[in-house]
Amino acid sequence: MSGGLRKLVKKGLGEMGFNKGGGAINWFPGHMAVATRAIRDRLKYADLVIEVRDSRIPLSSVNEDLQSVLSSKRRVVALNKKDLANPNIMHKWIQYFDSHKQDCLLINAHNKGSVKKLLDLVELKLKEVISREPTLLVMVVGVPNVGKSSLINSINQIASARFPVQEKMKRATVGPLPGVTQDIAGFKIAHKPSIYVLDTPGVLVPSIPDIETGLKLAVTGSVKDSVVGEERLAQYLLAVLNSRSTPLHWKMNNRILEQLKHGSTDKNDNKLKALLPKKKKQLDDSNVWYIEDLVTQVQHALYLTFSEFDGNLEEENDLESLIEEQFIALQKAMKVPPHKASDEARTIVSKKFLTLFRMGKLGPFTLDDVPETMAPTH
Ligand code: GDP
Repeated sequence: MSGGLRKLVKKGLGEMGFNKGGGAINWFPGHMAVATRAIRDRLKYADLVIEVRDSRIPLSSVNEDLQSVLSSKRRVVALNKKDLANPNIMHKWIQYFDSHKQDCLLINAHNKGSVKKLLDLVELKLKEVISREPTLLVMVVGVPNVGKSSLINSINQIASARFPVQEKMKRATVGPLPGVTQDIAGFKIAHKPSIYVLDTPGVLVPSIPDIETGLKLAVTGSVKDSVVGEERLAQYLLAVLNSRSTPLHWKMNNRILEQLKHGSTDKNDNKLKALLPKKKKQLDDSNVWYIEDLVTQVQHALYLTFSEFDGNLEEENDLESLIEEQFIALQKAMKVPPHKASDEARTIVSKKFLTLFRMGKLGPFTLDDVPETMAPTH
């Protein structure tokens, strides 16, 4: 992490009264702790665990409490939302997991081909070890919003295509008495042995050892925006982008202008609608244009402010004033009326900026750096 970014994060830390163990911020609702206990119980019956993580934060999206249990299980780490992560950096992350002898696969939970590859790996890992067990159970776990339900949905569709008549699964060990069978709901994905994926995922409580992990989890949507506040999140994101010189890649070139001309955007996407002005809630061609144009304007504004900046990114105050200028430039680029009260305008700018980033509209991006030391962690 660059010096300026580190200091800025630290400053935010002071303001937020954060300390180890949660401090003034209540990151998670109480029911999450109960959920952890329930997962611990269910994990006992799982022959394999698919631990879904966010590709943009392969380490920050872990649950510290359950890591020891998870790593002692047969486990496949599914790095989801690969479409939103930087492919060059993901290449290094794959090497990282390989060097820790941890099976891992980059996936897009909405893409059947991608999910089939994951199921192939799951099958392979189970069959090589226990081919005689009649029924094997796979559980999907992960922190909120990493894509567990989307993944289970795709698995359901693949399972129904493979086995149109889905039989109820029976497990001998689950009942209160030995030998008592109990039905568990799951999708059958393989035969001989029968492999079932449980239809309800285990929601893990993310671990927040430091403020930056919390910010990353919030930027990627595992922690609610209101916990940290949209403006702070947008400031953090700008600090990260600036300290990596990302805006320099956004010099307007022909490719972007071409994209703007032939922009192909999913018109049914609800998130896109969030970017539209209030009176334009129906997406049509002109709105798709509007969003593509918005992206171009935002990138251009950040490129210009960054390239004209003559301060030192390592200095917290310089970085802070660059971000301040960028907020003003973004407000113009997003056509947020200048007469709006400044607080309200900053919230609108922050929300739109976060939405663009989260949808991958500002390009694929990986927030977690690959650790330099290859010491085993997770
Ligand atoms: P859960 O809370 O872990 O069950 O997460 P969901 O399955 O509800 O997904 C959270 C959000 O991430 C939804 O808006 C999904 O559409 C989106 N999502 C899930 N998987 C992917 C993916 O691979 N790529 C992208 N871009 N979005 C995804």
